[in-house]
Parts: sequence; structure tokens; C-alpha cells
Amino acid sequence: MASKLELKDLIRPDNFIDGKWVAAASGKRFGVTNPATGEVIADVADSGEADARAATDAAARAFPAWRDALPKERAAVLHRWHDLMMENADALGRLISLEQGKPFAEGRGEVLYGASYVKWFADEATRIYGDIIPQQQRGKRMTAVKEPVGIVAAITPWNFPLAMIARKIAPALAAGCTVVGKPAEDTPLTALALVLLAHEAGVPPGVLNLIAASRENAVSAVASWLHDSRVRKITFTGSTPVGKYLARESAETLKKLSLELGGNAPFIVFDDADLDAAVTGLLVSKFRNGGQTCVCPNRVYVQSGVYEKFGDMLAKRVAALKVAPATDPDAQIGPMINARAIDKIVRHVDDAVAQGARVLAGGKRLTALGPNYYAPTVLADATSAMQLSCEETFGPVVPLFRFDDEAEALRAANDTPFGLASYFYSQDIRRIDRVSRGLEAGIVGINEGALASEAAPFGGVKESGYGREGSKYGLDDYLSIKYLCQGGLE
Ligand code: ADP
Repeated sequence: MASKLELKDLIRPDNFIDGKWVAAASGKRFGVTNPATGEVIADVADSGEADARAATDAAARAFPAWRDALPKERAAVLHRWHDLMMENADALGRLISLEQGKPFAEGRGEVLYGASYVKWFADEATRIYGDIIPQQQRGKRMTAVKEPVGIVAAITPWNFPLAMIARKIAPALAAGCTVVGKPAEDTPLTALALVLLAHEAGVPPGVLNLIAASRENAVSAVASWLHDSRVRKITFTGSTPVGKYLARESAETLKKLSLELGGNAPFIVFDDADLDAAVTGLLVSKFRNGGQTCVCPNRVYVQSGVYEKFGDMLAKRVAALKVAPATDPDAQIGPMINARAIDKIVRHVDDAVAQGARVLAGGKRLTALGPNYYAPTVLADATSAMQLSCEETFGPVVPLFRFDDEAEALRAANDTPFGLASYFYSQDIRRIDRVSRGLEAGIVGINEGALASEAAPFGGVKESGYGREGSKYGLDDYLSIKYLCQGGLE
């Protein structure tokens, strides 16, 4: 196989188990559609319990050899995988755009982003140190070593079809774990393409297994992993209710869990902020992937002294954003993922307007483009009684809430069960210190809207979950510590 592939070569509609492409045991398939047009891209294997079990069997067989491979051998495979992702960045980016809808520039950007985690963890694989514990008794040596936890089950959402699964598989493989995975039903093709490249890079059969499933069958497929004591860890990115379900169901076999769940990110603009920078930061953080990321600001709090001015500046920039299919080179916002997503956005905006919100920009569907398009929207006079203040809209809608003082802003920002990302703009150094400490969130953007980096720990607090992806901490979730106590040395 040539290492540089065309888009059509990357479309693999079967499961990948034990190094082979196989149909679902039931023979069932489900259609994956292009959200811009509703056209079916491919009929993909619709897996169930038997397929999930076959994946676990393969992962169990492959585990001892992969665990015992030298760290630099695992690193070399991951580096090759990274290089193949980079060589195929255009075709992978197009595939992401095709099944997920984001503009091509963002799709390609996601490939680079996902690949950066693979490179990071390839390097980290060679730096898994233990400890020599200072001697406590003569004749005894005490050490702590780190070992892979075992088989990891990775379950991912549709909004970053490549990056979300890459940043789970890469640390798992680096640590010496084997993987069974299930991507989201809306976007399984990108993940399957990644597995194709991983195989090409030399990931041995059984080390990485991926099955696709419709929403309906995903439940029994994943349940097989939840109840299988051979699966030692679940790593999940998705909604909080599903995360809680996975935690409950896996409790019986006490699995290690990493849960990257929903957010309800606040974005605070203080009177003393650089307003141009705040508008730009908000555009960057809010409209990435059309507002469909878990770190997108969902509630924007603006201090009364700059409220009207900020609203005007923002509305002008938002109204100029170009909404178009991913194939349009000028597209800045593509279609939303599906009808369910559009319905939620419409419900949130209609509810806000009915309760007195003023539409400064957008506020409507763009049906001439297709069924899944929504105009980028700015709403003034938002209140905490509106649905969009307590639920994540996951679309291109910015509600502006007014506040008078810092304590009020912090109280409102923290008044949510979630705690993933948060942002604020201020030029007062003491305020920056106070607010950074006061925000209940795993991630704080200070005068900055673009926070993503493979070198930084990504994760939440409260009901946004636990565990961290990326950074020097990202491997910990895939390792367990073994204490060795050797006696009789005198
Ligand atoms: P979203 O609302 O963004 O689709 P979900 O949490 O529903 O987020 O989905 C994230 C991932 O979890 C997807 O891969 C989906 O198929 C999977 N999933 C959803 N519900 C379940 C469930 N009950 N059991 C197992 N997996 C599930």
C-alpha cells in the first residue's frame, strides 16, 4: 500500500479486529451521511455484543507482547503513525469535513492537532519513570514501577472524529495498553481511516481494534466492555448523562475511568478588558466547529460599562462570518451535525427570544443552504431563566448576560454543575489573579481564546468529569503503580 492515499482509499466501512477488516457478525450495516446534504457516504458495519467481545479477545491476546515491547519500539510505531497522518493530512481533512461538516481548513487543522498528540505520546512512551524509595530498613529495597493498566475501551463523540480518538489511542499504546474502541455513529469513518494508517505504521494485530455501531446497537456493544473484567479502563468523551451511566455500569468490575464530559463554559468580559482582543478571542473560541465543541463559551458575561459597545462590536464581526458547506474554500461555519442538533439550537433561541432576548445578529435557520444550517447568532439581554444558560447549546449562538461587579460575575460563572473550560478578559493584574483562582473549571483562558495544546492538561472538574488528556499527566490515566519490596538483601 502506498503511504499517500486518496480520500476514497481511506473509506473503510468494516470493523478492524485482530489486524483484519471484518463485517459485523450479524451482517448488519448502517448509513453514515454527509450533514451538508444528507447523502449516504457509506454503509458501515453495525456491531453488537459479539463484535465487541471479538475485539476484547484480540486485545487480550495481543496484550502481553505489546506490554513487554521496549518503550522505544512502541515509540517508533507511534512516530510512524504520526508521519502517516501528516502525509495524509489533506485526505483525512477532507474525510472529516465529509462526515462531520466542518470547513476543510478546520478538518485539516484537526488532523494536525490529533497528530500532535500522537507525536507527544510517542515521545512520552520513552519517559515512563518509576521511583527508588529512600531506604527505610536495612536489607530491604523499595521501588515503585509503572505498568500499563491493561485493555482500554475508548468511546468517542462526533465533533472531533479524529482528534478525540487519537488522543486516547496514543497514550494507551504508549503506555503498553491494548485498545478496543467505538467511535460515534455520526462519524465512524475518520476513526476507521486512522486505524488503517496505524496498521500501516506497524501497530501489531490485536493491539488496536475498532468497531462501529449505530446508536441503537452501541449500547449492547459497549455494555460488553463495561461488564468484561478483562477491560481495565474506560476512556470516554461525550455527554455527562452517558458518562455517569458508564461509571455506574463499570463499577461492578471497578475499572479505571477517564471522563471528558459536557461543559457550560463562561466567558467574562470586564470593563477593563481590551475589547478588540476579547471580541477576537470570543470568535475564536465560540465559532470553532460552528460552536460544537465542549470548550465553546456557552454564556458570555459582559460588565455593564462596556455591555452595549461589546455587543455592537461582536454582532458586526459575527454577521460577517461565512456559512457554507465544507467544500466552499471560504466557509467559516458549516452545517450542524444532524437534525437533533438544529432542533436544540432552535429551541434555545426561541425560548430566549420569548423571554425578552434581543437578536443582534442571526437568530434563524439558513434553510436555503440545507436542513442543518443555522446563522451565527448574538443575543443580548440573556438571563439565567433561559434554557441556554443551563444547557450547552452546542451551536453558533452567543448569549450576552449583563453584570455589575466581579463577585456577581464569578458567582454566575460558577453557578453550574459543569466545570470544563472558562475564559475571561481583563487587564488588571490583581483581578486576573483573583478570578483565575475563583473560577471552578479545569481550564482557564486568560485574555486568550485558543487553549488547545498537546502539551497542556485537558480536562474538567465537577460534572465535567475527571482525568486529563495531553501533557505529562496524560499517561497517568493509562498506568498503574506497582510497589516492589525486596527483602533479604543484607
Ligand atoms: P452526543 O450527545 O455528543 O452524541 P453522547 O454522550 O450521546 O454525546 O455520545 C458520545 C459517545 O457515546 C458516542 O460514541 C455514542 O455512540 C456513545 N454512547 C451514547 N450513549 C451510549 C450508551 N448508552 N452506551 C454506550 N455508548 C453510548
